[in-house]
Amino acid sequence: MEIEPVIGLEVHAELNTRSKMFCACPVVDSTTAEPNTAVCPVCAAFPGALPVVNKEAVAQGVKVALALGCEINQVSVFARKNYFYPDLPKGYQISQYELPLAEHGTLTIRTSEGERKIRVRRVHLEEDTGKLTHVHTENGESYSLVDLNRAGVPLLEIVSEPDMRSVEEAKAYAVALRQLLRYLGVNSGDMEKGVIRFEANVSVRWKGTDDLNTRTEIKNLNSFRALEQAVTQEIARQSELLRRGEPVIQQTMGWDEARGVTVPQRSKEEAHDYRYFPEPDLPPLEVTPEWIAELQAELPELPHARYHRFQETYGLNAYMADVLTAERAVADYFEEVVRAAAPEVSASTVANWITGELFGLMNQAGTAIEDVPITAQALADLLKRIAAGEINNNTGKKVLAEMFASGKNAEEIITEKGLRQVSDDDLIASWVDEVLDAHPKEVATYLNGKEGVANFLFGQVMRKARGQANPQVVRKILMERLKARGEG
Ligand code: ADP
Ligand code: MG
Ligand code: ZN
Repeated sequence: MEIEPVIGLEVHAELNTRSKMFCACPVVDSTTAEPNTAVCPVCAAFPGALPVVNKEAVAQGVKVALALGCEINQVSVFARKNYFYPDLPKGYQISQYELPLAEHGTLTIRTSEGERKIRVRRVHLEEDTGKLTHVHTENGESYSLVDLNRAGVPLLEIVSEPDMRSVEEAKAYAVALRQLLRYLGVNSGDMEKGVIRFEANVSVRWKGTDDLNTRTEIKNLNSFRALEQAVTQEIARQSELLRRGEPVIQQTMGWDEARGVTVPQRSKEEAHDYRYFPEPDLPPLEVTPEWIAELQAELPELPHARYHRFQETYGLNAYMADVLTAERAVADYFEEVVRAAAPEVSASTVANWITGELFGLMNQAGTAIEDVPITAQALADLLKRIAAGEINNNTGKKVLAEMFASGKNAEEIITEKGLRQVSDDDLIASWVDEVLDAHPKEVATYLNGKEGVANFLFGQVMRKARGQANPQVVRKILMERLKARGEG
């Protein structure tokens, strides 16, 4: 019998606010900032210090929830989640428990099997913890350093239903959610900086049943690769137990990034272990229908809708639409170029130039789309010149590379380097005659039926033209002159 995995994901995303969730401390890059420089009595948990909710964090949370099609709870409640750990100075984390910000959404994922909707159980607001660095010195000392810069940074937790049935689906969900957060501008998506973290809940069952069997939870997954590897391993381990008829023990596991293995951490805590209770220092959180409507109106076109529109409006294939909508800035750039280059240049030509030549240059230089020194207008202008026959495709590629390197526009480069394509019949005919006169042997071979030699002769003419002759004209004249020599 076949075994089927059942996967649910909990995703923690830091929100892109200027200040922390419950105090005025700035949110700083916790990988580069001097430790403990963005800390105040509230986030360092001094007695008597009181939290105040960050409105922008709530706004961003509501936007994510709306983009996931959730119902927003007009009243939600902050709760204390009590546990003891050195990175948590208060001894509790302010989170939401019984009444979260939003519930019952969906996220559409795309895999090799097609499209599927994954249900989102809940979206809630909470605060991040501090960061611990464990130090082992050469003389055998061990200690831990605490950095509270991250303590109190707004976090959004997005919890799925156990709807995913393969590692591929789990990965697709994670990718789609990161993409959505970036589109909404609420998270940078910089996974190396830990701004998005995954927890995977995994169980297995005999295919055809709908048992929700005992699961394990793998924490500390900070990359798509870690998520894929950890879930793959855990499915294999549990499948083996299921086949042998042995029980899976409910537990929390950690992912050891360096060794690439899951390690059991502790038996899974139950909700009552956290002694949740409503946060007495904060009133219930109210989100009015008017505010929800305002935030709804601010939502951009979402990535999945845009993916479909790109296929319908521009006639792109699914792959091209996927690549061009992966990032909002790329999709915006593409559409600007299309608008500026129409009607002479088709959308599919623009798509090919961006995903081929431009992405190639960006990859080589490690440049993000935001930093590309070619405006959409400038690229459109180059493509129009190619369409008009002013330069040919190959010269166009060289001009694009030069534009990328120097920031100059196509006109300047074409003029400076004298790259304008020659379509003048008389001039091209004179080059053809020179080449044919210089290669009597090849001409004879051609006339004896070896037609492939024409390509060699074509190349010689293009060389004489320094690549700037219109290739269609060259080919036409070359054929005419060869024919004439055969008859003459
Ligand atoms: P907790 O709050 O203790 O982590 P929840 O019941 O809220 O537990 O579920 C957390 C996550 O675990 C959710 O994403 C849910 O979809 C997933 N999950 C629940 N039951 C299972 C199961 N049997 N197999 C896989 N995932 C599960
Ligand atoms: Mg959990
Ligand atoms: Zn603070």
